Amino acid sequence: MKKEIILTKEITKIYKVGDIKVNALRGINLEINEGEFVSIMGPSGSGKSTLMNILGCLDKPTSGFYYLDGINVMDLNDNQLAEIRNKKVGFVFQTFNLLPRLNIIGNVELPLIYSRREQSRARKDLINEVINSVGLADWIKHKPGELSGGQRQRVAIARALINNPAIIMADEPTGNLDSRTGEEIMAIFQELNRSGKTIIFVTHEIEIARHSGRIIYLRDGILCGEELVKEPVDACKMLENMPKLEDKINNFSNNNSNVI
Ligand code: ADP
Ligand code: MG
Repeated sequence: MKKEIILTKEITKIYKVGDIKVNALRGINLEINEGEFVSIMGPSGSGKSTLMNILGCLDKPTSGFYYLDGINVMDLNDNQLAEIRNKKVGFVFQTFNLLPRLNIIGNVELPLIYSRREQSRARKDLINEVINSVGLADWIKHKPGELSGGQRQRVAIARALINNPAIIMADEPTGNLDSRTGEEIMAIFQELNRSGKTIIFVTHEIEIARHSGRIIYLRDGILCGEELVKEPVDACKMLENMPKLEDKINNFSNNNSNVI
């Protein structure tokens, strides 16, 4: 039996800027089941980030109802909201949002500090395990400035996983990456989904959305359509046919030597 992990009823969000009101969301009804991989597509300004922030308990709707894993989010105060967010949701952003002064370990353990888990061997093991799972075991002492965009996003994914949340939410996580690196990140999300995580993804690229099982279309703060993806793109298969950066450089120098 499928269990609803997210249920919204007529959610609205009005931003007030001085005397002006912006209707960012105008009545969103959404159901997402545990274990689904859903992407939310829409043009810039359609309300994707606003919706994501509400679903992830970073912000509250102006009106409507939101149940997260059966909990009525509208009833929670700010502390309770922060607690449920920390427990249930891991976030990944387009711009990575890492702390530049901390190395990978420091960045990945941040959510644990907020949830006040005690220092222990188990905690160190957990941090290392999560960093290994995104393929960064050799880089743990490096700071974000010493990493590529793809590696930074892997750190952000590790940080999102550290509290073992049921849901991973990602707002345009491949937006700043080249296509191969973006595909590698999609492979990680697909693997996480196969291992049981619910994934909710915002993108404005249809090629990226086709990696998910369901695409929801947002326009002017309204859900205006949805599509089940019969055969989602398999990122691992895609990667087999995509040149690596080193290959591109090799080809380039080979071609160049031919010309010379
Ligand atoms: P998207 O992520 O799809 O680009 P957003 O959710 O960021 O869209 O924005 C939806 C609408 O709400 C836009 O018109 C945007 O200008 C407005 N908006 C977003 N955040 C704020 C804010 N903090 N204050 C005022 N208006 C905002
Ligand atoms: Mg946005």
